[in-house]
Amino acid sequence: MESNMTNDMHLGTERTDVLHPYGVSSESDCRLSAGVSLHSTACLLSDVPTGLSQNPVGVQDVKQVVKRSGTPALTPHDTSWIIAGPCSVETEAQILATAKALAEIPEVKLLRGGIWKPRTRPDAFEGRGEEGLVWLREAKLETGLPVATEVATTAHVELALKYEVDALWIGARTVVNPFLVQQLADALQGVDIPVLIKNPVSPDLNLWVGAFERFQKAGVTQLMAVHRGFSYYKETPYRNFPMWEIPIELTRRLGVPLITDISHICGNRELLQATAQKALDLATDGLMIECHINPDEALTDAKQQITPEGLKQLLASLTFRTKDANIVERDLAGLRGEIDDIDSELLQLLARRMEVSAQIGEYKKSHNATVVQLDRWKKILDDHIATGQDLGLSPQLINKVFEAIHQASIERQTRVMEN
Ligand code: PEP
Ligand code: MN
Repeated sequence: MESNMTNDMHLGTERTDVLHPYGVSSESDCRLSAGVSLHSTACLLSDVPTGLSQNPVGVQDVKQVVKRSGTPALTPHDTSWIIAGPCSVETEAQILATAKALAEIPEVKLLRGGIWKPRTRPDAFEGRGEEGLVWLREAKLETGLPVATEVATTAHVELALKYEVDALWIGARTVVNPFLVQQLADALQGVDIPVLIKNPVSPDLNLWVGAFERFQKAGVTQLMAVHRGFSYYKETPYRNFPMWEIPIELTRRLGVPLITDISHICGNRELLQATAQKALDLATDGLMIECHINPDEALTDAKQQITPEGLKQLLASLTFRTKDANIVERDLAGLRGEIDDIDSELLQLLARRMEVSAQIGEYKKSHNATVVQLDRWKKILDDHIATGQDLGLSPQLINKVFEAIHQASIERQTRVMEN
């Protein structure tokens, strides 16, 4: 597939638009502003402990720091805006090597790394915790890439802020629980950090919307949606079934940027390319892709992770569109999805109507009544035309539709009579 990435990509190495200075611990001139690179900010480095903290900072203290510092926006500016990084931060060497390779790819704007991993079964690798945050910050300082991690408890929030994580994401297993979401929103009250909200595991649009509302009410202004697919009642080729119409409807309602996490949708490498292209065609604002320096050895989600080199190839194979065109596509896709849903309801209703009609046929047969009862039919049609007019539907349309339905009903009842 031909790539048109160069047309609309920000190919420059500038990543400074997405940085914010959680590292600043005093009101000195150390504060970063958009346009200042992490590499050139020695005073930021001076504030970075090299190991685990002996003296933990409370959430309140962290909030003070963050409030003073301000937060440049971290939002996608074109459709080739990529969040990449390993499913889990495993070792210092793993995250540093992965981050350095990813930093060479201009489309990569944010480095992801799971520090606390929600695992289905106990005794699986559950993430490195605080130690991993030290390495993640090291990766950020070495590469200039801002970093993101998943938080599921207020203790996670506290630690993530303490270690200057630039953006947080709320995982699919957390978004299903309004109590947890509220606790996280409360913990972030007044902290202007970008928060990415994954869809809940279940295909429940309102639950997803509710999570946004909780953070919005807490004053978190930089919110993004991450579509990672949904649990589905039957086997599909995907790990999590995309159900594209749900994220499309969410963005239609909320107007938030949408990132598609193709790795968790697919669950394997083979589906990544087609799924990424589909996401771009439906107008995603960016992609989240799990990358590991040695995917086969990954402690979590080994099957779906790709190397940084694999990411380069994947990106080269994709067709990126301009955002405006994408938005038109997305709006249309949302409206078309709505039409499909309505048509499907109409079909169900028609089938039910025919079923009831057949039952009436049985009754008429056993009571020797005629199939066509003109008075009743005339009354039904008059009533429907009047109701239709109240609803803004023309008498011609009502006539045509109900003539056809009535005709089909008569045929059905006639068949019943004849049997
Ligand atoms: C992850 O991003 O590694 C993760 C656990 O994702 P999700 O919450 O979408 O399952
Ligand atoms: Mn994962």
